[in-house]
Amino acid sequence: MAQLRRVVEVRRTFKDKELDELFLVAMCELSESFSMRLFVTEALFVRSFRLFGTRTQQAEWVPKILAWESIGCFAMTELGHSSNLRGIETTATYDAANRDFIIDTPSLMATKIWIGMAGETATHTACLARLLVRGQDCGLHWFVVPLRDPKTGRLMPGVTAGDVGAKAGRNGLDNGWIQFTHVRVPRDAMLARWARVAADGTFHAGLNPEDADPANNVSPAAAAGLAYAGLIPERLEITRGIPMMLNQALTIAVRYAAGRRQGPAGNPQVLDYPSIQAALMPALARMHAVMAAAGAVWTTWHAMEEGGPNALLQGLPDMHALSAGIKATVTWDGADILERCRRAMGGHAYSRYNAIADYIGDYGVMTTGGGDNAVLVQQTARYVLAMARKSMADPNKFASTVAPTDSVAYLPSAVALAAEGVPPAVSDWTSLAQLHAVLQWLAVAKVQALGMSLASAPKGGMTRAWNAAHADISAVAQLHTHQYLARAIRIRAGDLEPTARDSAVAPAALQPTFVRLARLYLLDVLRQFARDLLLHGWARDVVEQLDVEFADACAQVRDQAMPLVDAFGLPDWILQAPLARADGDGYRAYLATIQNAPNCFGPPKYWDAEVRPLTAPAGRSRL
Ligand SMILES: Cc1cc2nc3c(=O)[nH]c(=O)nc-3n(C[C@H](O)[C@H](O)[C@H](O)COP(=O)(O)OP(=O)(O)OC[C@H]3O[C@@H](n4cnc5c(N)ncnc54)[C@H](O)[C@@H]3O)c2cc1C
Repeated sequence: MAQLRRVVEVRRTFKDKELDELFLVAMCELSESFSMRLFVTEALFVRSFRLFGTRTQQAEWVPKILAWESIGCFAMTELGHSSNLRGIETTATYDAANRDFIIDTPSLMATKIWIGMAGETATHTACLARLLVRGQDCGLHWFVVPLRDPKTGRLMPGVTAGDVGAKAGRNGLDNGWIQFTHVRVPRDAMLARWARVAADGTFHAGLNPEDADPANNVSPAAAAGLAYAGLIPERLEITRGIPMMLNQALTIAVRYAAGRRQGPAGNPQVLDYPSIQAALMPALARMHAVMAAAGAVWTTWHAMEEGGPNALLQGLPDMHALSAGIKATVTWDGADILERCRRAMGGHAYSRYNAIADYIGDYGVMTTGGGDNAVLVQQTARYVLAMARKSMADPNKFASTVAPTDSVAYLPSAVALAAEGVPPAVSDWTSLAQLHAVLQWLAVAKVQALGMSLASAPKGGMTRAWNAAHADISAVAQLHTHQYLARAIRIRAGDLEPTARDSAVAPAALQPTFVRLARLYLLDVLRQFARDLLLHGWARDVVEQLDVEFADACAQVRDQAMPLVDAFGLPDWILQAPLARADGDGYRAYLATIQNAPNCFGPPKYWDAEVRPLTAPAGRSRL
């Protein structure tokens, strides 16, 4: 927290917005716990207001939060409910006589838990609760509830809260649990952009008149769905947060492998073994694909946020499905990549001094927090299935309703390809367009297979059939996401025309490098789904050729591996991994770090008490 306070104070002196942003990126790269504290307040808490608050509520709260006068948290998860938010039990009961809400935790399982910064520091929380008005359940809504006195840090009356204690990682962040006992909050504590309770206790679903204008007629049903949208930006943060961490791990692992030789002099650098290349080079390509997509997803999201309620609601289904797919696909990949980095460094990545061990501990939550991946892929697959059906029913109409940056824009052409009945052939393995078309075709082939297996479910057996199809559901969501990321890296490589919403094309001198990365990315993803390619008609020799092309693409990226990691621009003080020192003098620095560690030298304190009685018992000859 001392680090955070200092950062807040330093930022107050900045006049330059760009400097402020760069400073924050550097601090987030330096410290995972710091970045999470910053993220919880400045992203999750602020966005609760931006998404669910009226203009008045935003004007009142957002400046206070950004100035850190109010420290916030985001309380959605309960002990018994998270993947299934509809089960949320915390209640907000409107008391018309007092014109306020009573926030209550009605059962043990309704205890809010895992809430970042609720353990010690948050003064307020955005709390997801079930609104009860005149005995009627009016659905889930967000409420701002004070947790602690900003002066004393003591809990407010009726609030019981504490830290969740020791965790597998991120121990610099105070995740907490909260229980409310009839906590009264004023009527304007309900974030009331999409629904409100009048002073007399009448519940109004739909856009708050304060925010309404004739161009923005939002149906109450559409507005009701928004309570679940609060996590979309958190999921989109993956496009920035995962490369931020994994590029560090990749820099460390690639530098180590480039400087390491095993066996007699003249043996290759470890980085030249095809097995190490197959582990690390596709990981570089995957991170570049994610970074390339960040521009498009954030520009689209900001346009939705700033474009008024209609823009937000119109874009929501696609963005919801895409953000869920990105969250699941990229964090699953990231977990795999971190482990590969660790293994590529042999025993030395097991040392906490070389950073990767801590990344692995901190990372664990990424596949679970913000919605468990296994649940998120279902949301993506459900949407893709519905959109594919629409596209099949009337491709022209469908094509006219989607924007090029919509994640489903590829469906009409991929559906047409699938209708040909034979898998697309690859005549040129260096053609990004051909490889991308195969990926999109496979996504549609999997969607169609999923649709057929669900269609054969017996009456009343749809839930069972859906749950049984989890492997196909997961494949659909991942393929759909990868084809979106592939579009982004092709644009970066200068291989596709960007729209105004896409990230910039790389400078001409760098485009050949991005072409190599894009090719490797596509080949790697196709290899990941080789079983599905075979099942959907690719011949065995084509899959074998895929392996050959993949090895070639790895070797091509390996040639540029060192400049690629150097280009991440991560200085030694951020990497904090002596073996990956930029000047190449890693072994000396590593050993010095080990030797400077506490208890490195000398007999341990327990020697006389515990070891000596065994090795040199009193009265026995030393011989
Ligand atoms: C470090 C950390 C920080 C967090 N920060 C916050 C925070 O600030 N605010 C907040 O509100 N929450 C926070 N969370 C909570 C997090 O969002 C939840 O842990 C997450 O949504 C998963 O819910 P759960 O733990 O209840 O798991 P469960 O839902 O119990 O999942 C258990 C298993 O069941 C599977 N499963 C569940 N439903 C289905 C299904 N329908 N189909 C197939 N499989 C299913 C899951 O995939 C998982 O493997 C945090 C969690 C952690 C660990």
